[in-house]
Amino acid sequence: MAPRLVSLTFDNGPFVGTTDRVLAELERRGILAAFFVVGRSLARPGARVLAESAVAAGHLVGNHSATHSVALGELPDSSSVDAEIDDCESLLDGLRGSPPLFRPFGNGGALDHRLLSQHAVQRLVDGGYRTVLWNSVPHDWDDPTGWVDTAVSHVREMEHTVMVLHDTPGACADRLPELLDRLEALDVQFTQDIPDSCIATSNGTRTAVVDALLRG
Ligand SMILES: [Zn+2]
Repeated sequence: MAPRLVSLTFDNGPFVGTTDRVLAELERRGILAAFFVVGRSLARPGARVLAESAVAAGHLVGNHSATHSVALGELPDSSSVDAEIDDCESLLDGLRGSPPLFRPFGNGGALDHRLLSQHAVQRLVDGGYRTVLWNSVPHDWDDPTGWVDTAVSHVREMEHTVMVLHDTPGACADRLPELLDRLEALDVQFTQDIPDSCIATSNGTRTAVVDALLRG
């Protein structure tokens, strides 16, 4: 049987004191991941160097909005959507890969119509973004005792898990070593590839995933 695949993603950073710990733990184990950064986080003192370290280590860095406040599908006007995307992107010079990556946010990770508006999807298509969704949200930020078990059960259930974790204070950093020990014991293969089922826009087009999302 082919090994189960796991793509680890870390959202909302970078933060001094947590992103550095996450990076060290991944480095120690030779795991490459993706970091979806928030402009407001990246603008804090000491944060950019962490994002630069992530890129230098081979991790992907992508856009996770400028302020991470109101989900793009719930913003009242298209100029606010553009600002959330563009104001973060302008901070990613020297950090972004090709194609540029975007991850939407909001409502605890629910995959429904609130995530993106038609305008947001078109803006991401026009910007050449690869929009990366997920299929696992173990709630590292609000379930400190349970999230590792949840994460492991997701990986056991799926061929390819795209997991949303958070390199923010009070989220995954404390128990990440325990999670990775358990995943390594399952013989999973860590990958930066993302399955089509978690891609909303790519190569200048919107995918069928987005059509289902906007209906939901
Ligand atoms: Zn987020």
